[in-house]
Amino acid sequence: MTHAHMYSRFLASDPAWNGRFFTGVLTTGIYCLPSCHARKPRSENVRFFASCDEARAAGLRPCRKCHPDDFARGADPVLESIETLVGEVRGNPARFGDARAVVRRSGFGPTRCFELLRQHYHATPADLLLRARIEAARRLLLAGDSPLIEVAAGAGFESLSSFHEHFRAQNGMTPAAYRGLLSPGPFTVDLPPRYPLAHLLRTLGRDPQSVTERLSGTSYEASADLDGFPAALRFEFSKECATVALSDGAGAGPGWKPAAHRIAVGMLGLEQDAAGFSRLARRLGLARLVAGREGLRLIGTPSVLDGLLWSIIGQQINLPFACVLKRRLVENAGTRLPGGLFALPTAAALARLEAKDLRPWQYSRQKAEYLIGAARLVAAGTLDLAALPAMSATRAERTLLSVRGLGPWSVNYLMMRSLGFADCVPLGDTGVTSGLKALFRLEERPDVDATRRLMSVFSPHRSLATAHLWQINRPPP
Ligand SMILES: [Zn+2]
Repeated sequence: MTHAHMYSRFLASDPAWNGRFFTGVLTTGIYCLPSCHARKPRSENVRFFASCDEARAAGLRPCRKCHPDDFARGADPVLESIETLVGEVRGNPARFGDARAVVRRSGFGPTRCFELLRQHYHATPADLLLRARIEAARRLLLAGDSPLIEVAAGAGFESLSSFHEHFRAQNGMTPAAYRGLLSPGPFTVDLPPRYPLAHLLRTLGRDPQSVTERLSGTSYEASADLDGFPAALRFEFSKECATVALSDGAGAGPGWKPAAHRIAVGMLGLEQDAAGFSRLARRLGLARLVAGREGLRLIGTPSVLDGLLWSIIGQQINLPFACVLKRRLVENAGTRLPGGLFALPTAAALARLEAKDLRPWQYSRQKAEYLIGAARLVAAGTLDLAALPAMSATRAERTLLSVRGLGPWSVNYLMMRSLGFADCVPLGDTGVTSGLKALFRLEERPDVDATRRLMSVFSPHRSLATAHLWQINRPPP
């Protein structure tokens, strides 16, 4: 890395470079993380170091704003205290009467607490508490048959009607119907009013050659891991709802429905604040970004592993070729399910491959190594995919950036589509840059720093902004 390159990352306060180098400022005698928001010195007064030790050896001391030493030894006290807070909220949401109680418990002032939760969880205290209540309600509903009023109180809802309203909006079904997921047979997920179904179907059908999913009219089948059982799900869409069933001949464990429901909610993006994003776009005078597709959601992947494989396969190549590569991987390393679809290869199966095995399937040596390397981390338990969605965005991002082959694009793509984080930008994505060019009528596509700057106006909804930017240059479906 050249001085100029590191300096530009430092000017951009790019957290993706934290740990890769440290920045020393000769005029102040202080060293920082690249992400530090302290005032930026001129290039000639900056030196770069590979470690904190090197910076100290040069006579510099650590910055008191960004705490580079804490970062270097893996400690981050502010982040840890926010993570502890969120753990408490999720562990017992009924202890918190409202969002103000969350702020009080944080020990930070309201402004700082909002800032920290937005930065580290892409959420407000109220969002976070509501999510925790809904998650607790799901657990209580499946755990026994206590009356709904007790479930509502146990999860911390102030009334039965507010429980009902919020639960239904984020789950596409009533609490009673959710409890019904323990009985056999198909189930139904309601779509929000004016859900842009045609956009969903176009995206689900974008790879007609896929062997893990298949769209035919309003019927969609996809392979999925249901609590450890590889199976295929069938979704039948209408304007109002999606009916979800196991595909013909597919087997699954008795508890398949809650797992399938979670996949459906993620795929349909029911937890995303589409209305909030539309309001923001209009307030910014950018109603044209959402026109004709106001309820658009970012479509979730069936599993985190699916997102991980796709984010590596899709790097630096066009969509049709990425689809070919994925198909070859699945046909050769996945298993065929009754009904003809393939289950995604398991991490263990991929971990047994060698890079040369992927050569005949047209994988570059590098892509093959990245894919197998990531699969080996998962198979060995070093990278725990199941733990990622509950982590703070900051920790999930750091964890993923430490995986060889995952750069800022892949990590943000994965965080948006597989982990449900609301404020991500897949930097360097050509769909995003050409969307921004069209939206802001720019002469050319913005570079990484300009993309970051332009996208900042959409915070805390940058994942949904990305979903809309991907559509802006396409005719309506
Ligand atoms: Zn600093």
